Amino acid sequence: MSLRIKKALRKLVAYSPDDVDFKIRLNANESPFDFGINEIRSLKNSKAKKYLKFNSVNRYPDAKQIDLRNLIAKHYKVNQNQVALFNGSDELILNLLLSLTGKSESVLTFKPSFSMYKILTQSLGMKCLEVPLTQNYDIDLPKTLEILSEADPDLIFIASPNNPTSNSFSKEKIFKILNKAKGLVVIDEAYSEYASFSFMKSLKKYKNLVIMKTMSKIGFASLRLGFLIANKEVVNIVNKVRLPYNVSTLSQLIAQDYFIHIKEYKEQIQNVINERIKLTEKLEGYKQIKITDSDSNFLFIEYFKTKKLCNFLKTKNINIKTFTDKKLINYFRVTIGTEKENNALLKYLSIFFKKNS
Ligand code: PMP
Repeated sequence: MSLRIKKALRKLVAYSPDDVDFKIRLNANESPFDFGINEIRSLKNSKAKKYLKFNSVNRYPDAKQIDLRNLIAKHYKVNQNQVALFNGSDELILNLLLSLTGKSESVLTFKPSFSMYKILTQSLGMKCLEVPLTQNYDIDLPKTLEILSEADPDLIFIASPNNPTSNSFSKEKIFKILNKAKGLVVIDEAYSEYASFSFMKSLKKYKNLVIMKTMSKIGFASLRLGFLIANKEVVNIVNKVRLPYNVSTLSQLIAQDYFIHIKEYKEQIQNVINERIKLTEKLEGYKQIKITDSDSNFLFIEYFKTKKLCNFLKTKNINIKTFTDKKLINYFRVTIGTEKENNALLKYLSIFFKKNS
């Protein structure tokens, strides 16, 4: 039987997730801290019990997602009609592409950056224009402005801090893009909790600014919860394609806990930042590798024997991220783990570098 595959999908390669059966998982930019179910405070308090009684397991989740949207709006000092929730920010990217690409049907992003922008754009049969980053992994502004004039992309995806390069882009350049672009500028702040700057305060000034956030990098990857903050016209349009009941009751409840007890959770985020500084300092002692200044919860490292190193670490039950893209073959990405995990990484790197200098 010949399958009637959509034309846009014929050449497309699916996103390939890594294996998960490693003791030390430093490949997916998750938080190393597991807020065990007993630590999720709201599951035990009376408010949660009331919530679960009303939103019981036999019922659909709250489709309007009122409680969580209100908490998010309060935290970021916006109106609840400026917030929409998704099953991970992957789903949010898809929903933006489904709803807000009605003019040029082209999308602009950078290279290298988060792969789902391109995969999803192309899977919908649209053009993904990728502007290569400069040598120090910043935005090439002249080239970007040129493409904005020529192609007038409907959406511009800017991950800042960027995955996989770990750095934040120059905010002055992003403001220039915001001033010039006629389409929506989507700033993906997946890692902004680890960074020194957020564009949240610019929402009032720039009506074409859309901010994406996710709970995945700050301790809650299993919830699959991403959210959009933008002006209400954007939210209204995306809501036309957002599936009803797209965020489960448990995800909504646990995410509420985060925003209610945010001060305590932030301690763990600071812990990761401190570990990042420590790990970077120690790795800087190795002349064979080149580390990019990170503003996120992972490091991007250039090393000419990356494949061999990755295979060696696997034999020690440590998984790091390598890339199939030819231009990134000499690079790896390593998530900041707990102190114990980072020390294990350092120990095996030292053994490896002694043998392979
Ligand atoms: N944006 C960026 C920049 C990412 O690195 C990732 C995850 N790797 C995502 C979005 C997707 O996050 P989520 O788990 O919310 O789908």
